[in-house]
Amino acid sequence: MLQRRLIPVPALADNYIWLLAENNQCLIVDPGEAPPVLAALRRERLTPTTILLTHHHPDHIAGVAGLLATYPGLPVIAPDDERIATATRRVGDGERVHIDAPRSDFEVIGIPGHTRSHIAFFGARVVFAGDTLFSVGCGRMFEGTPPVMLASLDRLSQLPGDTLLCCGHEYTLANCAFALSVDAGNADLQQRAEQARALRSRGEPTVPVTLELEHATNPFLRVDAPAIRASCAQAIGAAAAEDRVTRFAWLRREKDGFRAST
Ligand SMILES: [Zn+2]
Repeated sequence: MLQRRLIPVPALADNYIWLLAENNQCLIVDPGEAPPVLAALRRERLTPTTILLTHHHPDHIAGVAGLLATYPGLPVIAPDDERIATATRRVGDGERVHIDAPRSDFEVIGIPGHTRSHIAFFGARVVFAGDTLFSVGCGRMFEGTPPVMLASLDRLSQLPGDTLLCCGHEYTLANCAFALSVDAGNADLQQRAEQARALRSRGEPTVPVTLELEHATNPFLRVDAPAIRASCAQAIGAAAAEDRVTRFAWLRREKDGFRAST
């Protein structure tokens, strides 16, 4: 039997559509457009069996109709949100998704914050996290508040360290620039930034990445780390920085306004 493969398909400006393949069959996660997926399926000689969706944003679902035109009847498993009209099954936190081929069992994890119905699919040491957790960063809070988003990140953070994070965008380089501004002395982060620069200069993706490396480098998973606490205390005062939700909200706000000086 051939090995199971995770294939990031670049799409739109900086999205990744994920394929999880075994033998000649695959799952498709978050198809924001159809053409690059159809090309990848042809190139890799894969037949899709199921589409998984993490949230309703067009850059994650707009390709579903085009895929169904070529592969009618593909199941579309999505969060319980009426804004996703193509769903054939709607799932929420705590539900399990079993797929026959490639044989997989996913746990659905509710991770609201970027959107109110955002979910992740976790199974077989892989998590499809959409736009909630990025490598060295996190999503914007379009439909959630800091405590809600932080609770979602905490849940992803508790998955095993060898879990591979598959996220919806290639944002790692920009995220490293921000992370270094609040966690400058972090040797793991410096190394990750170098590695990401080298990968991107060769046109290669920086993901998937282990959660273990994210724990060491991602400021949004490091709200309790002494270096992040110190940066926050310096910016908003030691008393305010005592509260971890306040530290997270400060980080997210800083990231929103951050422009790399290069
Ligand atoms: Zn999104």
